Amino acid sequence: MKNYERDTLCIHAGYTPKNGQPRVLPIVQSTTYTYESSQEMGDLFDLQAEGFFYTRLGNPTIDAVEKKIAALEGGVGAMCTSSGQAASLMSVLNICTAGQHMVCSSAIYGGTFNLFYKTLKEMGIEVTFVPPTSTLEELRAAMRENTRCVFAETLSNPSLVVTDLETFAQAAHGQGVPLIVDNTFPTPINCRPIEFGADIVVHSTTKYLDGHAVQVGGVIVDSGKFNWDNGKFPALTQPDESYHGVVYTQQFGPAAYIAKARCHLMRDLGAQAAPMNAFLLNLGLETLALRMERHCENAQKVAGYLENDPRISWVNYPGLPSSPYHALAQKYLPRGSSGVVAFGMKGGREAARKFMDSLEMASVVTHVADLRTCVLHPASTTHRQLSEQQLQEAGVPADLIRLSVGIENPGDILADLKQAIDKAAQ
Ligand SMILES: *Cc1c(COP(=O)(O)O)cnc(C)c1O
Repeated sequence: MKNYERDTLCIHAGYTPKNGQPRVLPIVQSTTYTYESSQEMGDLFDLQAEGFFYTRLGNPTIDAVEKKIAALEGGVGAMCTSSGQAASLMSVLNICTAGQHMVCSSAIYGGTFNLFYKTLKEMGIEVTFVPPTSTLEELRAAMRENTRCVFAETLSNPSLVVTDLETFAQAAHGQGVPLIVDNTFPTPINCRPIEFGADIVVHSTTKYLDGHAVQVGGVIVDSGKFNWDNGKFPALTQPDESYHGVVYTQQFGPAAYIAKARCHLMRDLGAQAAPMNAFLLNLGLETLALRMERHCENAQKVAGYLENDPRISWVNYPGLPSSPYHALAQKYLPRGSSGVVAFGMKGGREAARKFMDSLEMASVVTHVADLRTCVLHPASTTHRQLSEQQLQEAGVPADLIRLSVGIENPGDILADLKQAIDKAAQ
């Protein structure tokens, strides 16, 4: 794709139909692809030729969406997965195995926290959680000889901490390991973490990238910039005997990481996206830039209103000058952060419950980053498994209400919030 701007890439990247082909990306609902000779098929299996042969490893619809997201993030390649969880897991497993260690910001999505804290630990990968506001020295102190990656969210769900990506990248690179960034909330429209030193970007495409709440999915994007040849990543730089000795860095150059994620992990774990879901995700992506602009405009209005309502005890929105992350947001998220606003009501948990039950238009759902305004109480849902101390460390106080501001008319959103606050404060 030419040097198009992001809003153009949303529409055109990834699929360029030729003469007589469908103008709109078709759904290739086929598990398999035919070849004239078994030799051709064999070459595909040996990674000696490029082409589709089985949808677990690649599919034309999914491929087009992967190319679009890679273009949006400024990476060399991407791989869609069945969910954001699968993307986070595979992004780590691709370079970190039993007996190794990773450093992770404590301000992350509850599902990712459980995945790393429990499941990775059970698989023999140790995780050190560090405060999201750690300095370079503090991050360095958390590193070990066997550390293989650093993980953080650009804008954390639901605590809305803006991570100092350059500091995290510097700490990771000083150790000779990559920085993996979950960029789900800002989307590449508002932030491209690779420009700030991230090496790998992951998303839950279930959220804004789709935006319509019609599919669960994830994606991993490879910046192509990390030098794997420093002795720490033999799985990328030494022969893979399960592919007749292919060496990923030699065969795939800067796309070695994402090639291995597909050829090795997707082959073995099978958490692939469905063609239909990729089609739906692509429809969502076409309007991503427009939607993000409106989400941010609406959220800024809502945050400003909440801040001035005496019945609200606190508001956190990176776009408010009062936010402790405002300066970082101006640097990393100059176009806006996202549609998500976190706040607490005077009256704590009980007031939060009444407020949520009184909403008429906004729905109470286990979802976020949808074009419909929705609301959730993390401490009793997504973060239910966390102890009081873990909640504190994740920046999720028990009274936190996560309001995901949609793209409806801002006057209607505000009116709904006001009437619900009135009822909750009675
Ligand atoms: C939702 C979410 C995930 C998990 O994604 P799923 O698609 O639900 O598996 C990961 N990271 C963040 C920031 C999320 O909001």
